[in-house]
Amino acid sequence: MTDRIWNFGAGPAVLPEPVLKKAMQDIWNVAGSGLGISEHSHRGKVFDKVIKETEQACRDLAGIGDDYHVLFLQGGASLQFSMVPMNLLPKDRTADYLVTGVWSEKAVAEAKRFGTVHEAVSAAATKFDRIPPVSDIKYSSNPVYVHLTTNNTIYGTQWISEPPVPAGVPLIADTSSDMFSRPIDVKKYGMIYAGAQKNLGPSGVVLVIMRNDLVEAGSKDLPTMLQYRTFAKEHSLYNTPNTFGIYVMGEVFKWIKAEGGLAAMAEHNAAKARVLYDYLDQSKLFKARALPGSRSLMNVCFFTASDELDNKFVAEATRAGFEGLKGHRSAGGLRASIYNAMPAAGVRALVDFMKEFERANG
Ligand SMILES: *Cc1c(COP(=O)(O)O)cnc(C)c1O
Repeated sequence: MTDRIWNFGAGPAVLPEPVLKKAMQDIWNVAGSGLGISEHSHRGKVFDKVIKETEQACRDLAGIGDDYHVLFLQGGASLQFSMVPMNLLPKDRTADYLVTGVWSEKAVAEAKRFGTVHEAVSAAATKFDRIPPVSDIKYSSNPVYVHLTTNNTIYGTQWISEPPVPAGVPLIADTSSDMFSRPIDVKKYGMIYAGAQKNLGPSGVVLVIMRNDLVEAGSKDLPTMLQYRTFAKEHSLYNTPNTFGIYVMGEVFKWIKAEGGLAAMAEHNAAKARVLYDYLDQSKLFKARALPGSRSLMNVCFFTASDELDNKFVAEATRAGFEGLKGHRSAGGLRASIYNAMPAAGVRALVDFMKEFERANG
């Protein structure tokens, strides 16, 4: 660690140390080419190898077949809130949304611009402190797709598995904050999208995994840059992509593979989260926000008895070398984001610091 501190920020977030060290080298001179990765043409040999390797590493991690496109887009996960309905929700059809947090609500708001939205379930009434039981979901009669947010970054809840969807209806998931934190059965989805800056790389690139038939089904009445087929046809090279972001994502994928793949990530993440939740559940000062059974293994949200004490905790934690623990402005409180790249040692150090804080302020 030496000159580095612990980064518990929600995003842009912690990256694996070996990836950062390799990137330091490759920014200077990548693959012995005499140029840094960010200086290469997106149409040149060096970058061609990088993007192909990134795509292949992604496919290998999750066993993605050639019935899906793997795309690297721009505009953040937020542009996907619009691109999905623009492409797939005709004016006279209904799309069903499972609303489990702020990001789901934003996705709903964009979809309403293009067609009818049915909220098949919402956890808003309990301030998003849980994932609703599957029995509460009421789908519309013939939805064009079902949209869910697998991990709710702001309120710290996470779907344990995919809810059932009506037969033949594509499931579309925003997996921005838990992509590749555990095994994912891509075949259950019509489409998966994830902004890179939580668990996959730097900001400015979005991973999109989309079934070929849905790419083809997309509206043709849209600007070129808003049609998925544009990027599918050109292998994400219709225009200049975020070359550096794609490079880092590829290195992160290789790192995940070297660590043992998605199953190993799941084990490592569950163990880290357990340390933190176990402490929270017996603490007299801190309280976990999300209900057991709904808790995110990526974003652990908690709070003390008062905003003043929360603020004091953030200030002292920052001085002690723990960054990014303030909760999102719409949820308040505190949040420790413990993505794939957060080592177990970082979580143990945080819990030790919290114990010390509790002794002094309890
Ligand atoms: C961060 C986040 C977003 C927004 O991502 P941008 O890349 O900033 O647009 C959307 N959904 C989820 C679940 C997120 O965590």
